[in-house]
Amino acid sequence: MLHDAGHFLALVIPAMALLLALSFLFAWHHERTRPYLLQVGACYLLYATAIGMQILWPPRAGAGHATVIGALYLGSAVLLLHGMLARIGARPGRCAVVALPLVLCGMLAWFELVQPSLVARVYIANVGMALILLLGIAPLAGLRKGRTVDRVLFWVFVGFALQFVPRTVLTLAPAGVADAAALPRTAYGLWLQATLALLLLTLALALLAATAQDVIDGLRHERDTDPLTQLHTRRSLETLAARQIPPRPGEPLSVVLCDLDFFKFINDNYGHGAGDAVLTQVGRIIAAGIRRRDIAARLGGEEFVVLLPDTPHDAALQLAERLRQTLEQASIDALPGMRKVTASFGVATLRPGEDLEALLLRADNVLYTAKNNGRNCVEWERESGLAVPA
Ligand code: GH3
Ligand code: MG
Ligand code: MG
Repeated sequence: MLHDAGHFLALVIPAMALLLALSFLFAWHHERTRPYLLQVGACYLLYATAIGMQILWPPRAGAGHATVIGALYLGSAVLLLHGMLARIGARPGRCAVVALPLVLCGMLAWFELVQPSLVARVYIANVGMALILLLGIAPLAGLRKGRTVDRVLFWVFVGFALQFVPRTVLTLAPAGVADAAALPRTAYGLWLQATLALLLLTLALALLAATAQDVIDGLRHERDTDPLTQLHTRRSLETLAARQIPPRPGEPLSVVLCDLDFFKFINDNYGHGAGDAVLTQVGRIIAAGIRRRDIAARLGGEEFVVLLPDTPHDAALQLAERLRQTLEQASIDALPGMRKVTASFGVATLRPGEDLEALLLRADNVLYTAKNNGRNCVEWERESGLAVPA
């Protein structure tokens, strides 16, 4: 039965899908580096078109309308799969995006044009959407171990894919649903569509929340990462150090400060670009030579620091000496011939009540001594009575 209120309510659902599509397209407009937003926007657009057509242009058996609408639903599932995978840098197989939807469309056409059966078409469209989406579960499984937004998104997606199966049974449960045109506008049909719309809304919100988190994390990473060396910036070091200072009782904390020797000479003789490349390679050498827990930062210019949690003075000296030797022996890609790069190191260990600034100042003082002692060496505060490592 067609009621005005029912008709209006039915249209709320494609309107909502259309608004969600616009939200994704708007987000994509501002984040062109995330093409999955365009794919998900297109998915919602196809869904809105399919459900809108189903209401405004009720399928007449045998006219091919049902096949077109079914193809739009299946197309929206393919786009959703594409978008979900593209977000994590993966792609669906050809089977998912070409063969399976084509076979399903062929079956829809058969059960509309050759052997008309609404029941068969409802099953094919719904189970087909579930099958297409379920192909994404294995590649998306990594999200289960990700951030909260990723985990929520994964399970919402799984729930969304699976619900198509019980939905099919429920759609066909009331006896005598034979009039395809009436189904979306009956109270029962509306209830089915409204629950689907709620799920579509939940999925869209989960995806938009994950996107917002991606953008925030990306900006944070940019803010905290030195573009040349990919090490932490001074600001990021200060934030991370605040979590380590004061350290837990019995856990010494040390720093290794490092300044490249005669770097101005490199810039002046080989160019600023070569100087930058040297800094990049030194950043890689430092990052490769430390533990996961250690925090390496570029303080500016050609000065680096490594903050070493739970590291006593002698272990910090050993690390500094190891880094010094690695750097001295490294062949520097940006410099011609056998030209080597060396650095001077200053090591200091946190004293009770001291903050990062005071610790870095002491390390800087001993680094100055290392420069005066002829460079390419490690220095520390000898008057503190701490022994040189064997
Ligand atoms: P010392 O052995 O005493 O440390 O001598 P130095 O030449 O390394 O030190 P100095 O402080 O005289 O020069 C540092 C140079 O580093 C000067 C500056 O132009 C250069 N520099 C600072 N930041 C960058 C950068 O981002 N890229 C490049 N290529 N050079 C930089
Ligand atoms: Mg220098
Ligand atoms: Mg310097």
